[in-house]
Amino acid sequence: MDLVDLHAHTDRSDGSLAPSALARLAADAGLRLLAVTDHDTTAGFLEAHAAGLGLGLEVVCGTEITARFPGRAMHLLAYGFERRERGFTEMLAEIVAGRETRNPKILRLLAELGRPVTMDEVRAEAAGDVIGRPHIARALVRKGYVPDTKAAFTQLLRDGGPAFVAAESVEPDEVVRTVRDAGGVTVLAHPRQLRVESPEALAEVVEALVRDGLGGIEVDHPTQPPEERKVLRALAERLRIVASGGSDFHGDGKPHVRIGVGDGTIAVPYGTWEALLARCGAR
Ligand code: AMP
Ligand code: MN
Ligand code: MN
Ligand code: MN
Repeated sequence: MDLVDLHAHTDRSDGSLAPSALARLAADAGLRLLAVTDHDTTAGFLEAHAAGLGLGLEVVCGTEITARFPGRAMHLLAYGFERRERGFTEMLAEIVAGRETRNPKILRLLAELGRPVTMDEVRAEAAGDVIGRPHIARALVRKGYVPDTKAAFTQLLRDGGPAFVAAESVEPDEVVRTVRDAGGVTVLAHPRQLRVESPEALAEVVEALVRDGLGGIEVDHPTQPPEERKVLRALAERLRIVASGGSDFHGDGKPHVRIGVGDGTIAVPYGTWEALLARCGAR
C-alpha cells in the first residue's frame, strides 16, 4: 500500500532536521507522500519539495497553525492552500508576531524563577523564524538549569506550568475560514491534547468548526491510545469528515517518534490525502 505522512516538522519550526533531510528520511522509509507541517510557517516546503523531486517522493505544503484555546492552544493542520494568498500569509505573520510578544514574557517568568535566559540564547537554538517553547527548553538545558528538554517542560514550560504563557493567536474558526478562503482544508490536530472534559464536549467543539469548513480530525497520532482513536474515528464518521493521521515527527525533540509510523502504530494510506484534497476550498 502507498503510505503517506501528513504531519512532520523541520528545523524551520521546532523539528531538528533540515527540510531536505526530512524528505530523504521520508523517502528512505518508503513513503509516497510527505506533508511538511511546521508550526505557523511554510518556510520549509520549497527545500523539501526540491529534495523530493530527486527521490521520487511527493512533498506537499502544509502547516500546523496555532489557534487560541482556553488554557492551552488548538493546533490546526492545513493543506492544499495557495501558499502566497494574502489573507493566509497575513494570518501566519500575525501568529508569528504573537510568538514574538509571548516569548519575552516566558523569559521574564523564567528570570523570576531564577533561571535567566536571553532571547539571543533562545534564538541560537532555532534555525528558522518560528520560535517557541522547545527552543526555550533547549536553551534551559544548555545553561544547565535542567537535565533535558523533557524536564524543562515538566518543571517549567508545560501548559499551566510555572513559566507558562498562553499563545497570543487567532480564533480557531477564523483559521478554518482563512485556510478555506485560500483554497485549502484544515484538520484538527491531536484532539486529545485539547483535554476537553468529555467526548460530548469535544464533539461540540469539532461540530462548530465543521460548520466553518473543518475537513477532518487527526485520529491516528502517537499520543492517542487505541480507545481514544476509536472514539475519534466514530466522531469523524458521524460528522462525515476525514479521519486523518500522521507521525508528528520532530527528530531529536521526540526521539521515540519515527517518520511515517510514529510510535509504530501509524499507517496512513494515500487515499486519506486524496480525501483531504477533495475538500480543499469546499463551500
Ligand atoms: P509552543 O508552540 O511554543 O507553545 O510550543 C509547543 C511545542 O512544544 C509543541 O509543538 C511540542 O513540539 C512541544 N511540546 C509541548 N509540550 C511538550 C512536552 N510536555 N514535552 C516536550 N515537548 C513539548
Ligand atoms: Mn512542535
Ligand atoms: Mn501539535
Ligand atoms: Mn506537530
